[in-house]
Amino acid sequence: MTAELIDGRSCAARLREQVQADVRELTACGARPGLATVLAGDSYPARAYERRVRDLAESLGCRYSCVALPGDAAEADVVAAVGGLCADPRVSGVLVLRPLPPQVSEAAVYRALDPLKDIEAVHPVNAGLLALERPRFVPSTPASVFHLLDTYLSRDGRDPGEVYRRSRVVVVGRSANVGKPAVSLAMARGATVVSCDVHSARAGLLREHTTAADILVVAAGVPGLLRGVDVKPGVIAVDVGINAVHDEMTGAVRLVGDLDHDSVARRAAAITPVPGGVGPVTYTWLLRNTVAAARLALATDPVRRAKGLPGPELDVRELVSA
Ligand code: NAD
Repeated sequence: MTAELIDGRSCAARLREQVQADVRELTACGARPGLATVLAGDSYPARAYERRVRDLAESLGCRYSCVALPGDAAEADVVAAVGGLCADPRVSGVLVLRPLPPQVSEAAVYRALDPLKDIEAVHPVNAGLLALERPRFVPSTPASVFHLLDTYLSRDGRDPGEVYRRSRVVVVGRSANVGKPAVSLAMARGATVVSCDVHSARAGLLREHTTAADILVVAAGVPGLLRGVDVKPGVIAVDVGINAVHDEMTGAVRLVGDLDHDSVARRAAAITPVPGGVGPVTYTWLLRNTVAAARLALATDPVRRAKGLPGPELDVRELVSA
């Protein structure tokens, strides 16, 4: 079996067109969406992510700003930066880039977010709403995983819901930003869900679960964690991992996923590539969430409402459709 490639780039291009049309509509209503990021320290992945997000935001016509703090910034400074951005009416959504420096607690920074501007759903209120299957925002990476899966499973007019309800979905990795929300999204689709993390690997339980998965989502940050022998023939495999490795032949740095792509692709029915799979959809989804936050601000703006000014209808389904 040679797997079908699930192409994230073409999926992202289609999403981009929708987001661009939404940005134009909101801008015409005087509510141009604005994305702000907070970058603390000098981590290479955080800076690379910031550049990609800025380029995309600007190309789509959104406002964009970034507060960059030094690596030795105090937790209070990062919290204050988040608070300042959330108080700015030109900012619709705020993204805190990871990793934060070790002296800064993620939980403290996330609590400082305005839940209505928390486009990655990391504030406890939004994380709770997602776990209760009533999400306000769906975090961009797990949303992208399921957008790709939904798109792949609905080709030829099929009903993806039927496939999920018959499937065992195994999620490897249990971070607050990726693995845990991916579990919630799989459960919301009626799948039988198994969550594994590093403890499963240490206990020797990982392979038992990955070889039973009909749909496998891997977000561990370990290059080549799973090989062909670790998956079931016919699996649908989504590789979230983005790992920079040195190519021993050329010495150059290249990006690989958490799956050993070639051996898994020989067994799988479908697989996402790295790069070009989940990543491009994630950036676009972040901007989609920024648009949703701008709509939310517009629909709930007391001044506009008092004046009876029209705004785009708030479609709650749009906020939960991931
Ligand atoms: P994280 O470090 O916060 O969490 C990693 C999780 O994997 C933890 O739950 C850990 O217990 C688990 N884990 C670690 N080693 C394991 C092992 N040997 N076996 C099983 N589980 C193991 O990382 P994260 O932020 O969730 O990111 C995970 C990966 O996804 C990284 O490679 C990151 O770069 C990538 N990522 C990609 C996108 C994208 O858009 N494609 C977005 C975010 C993160």
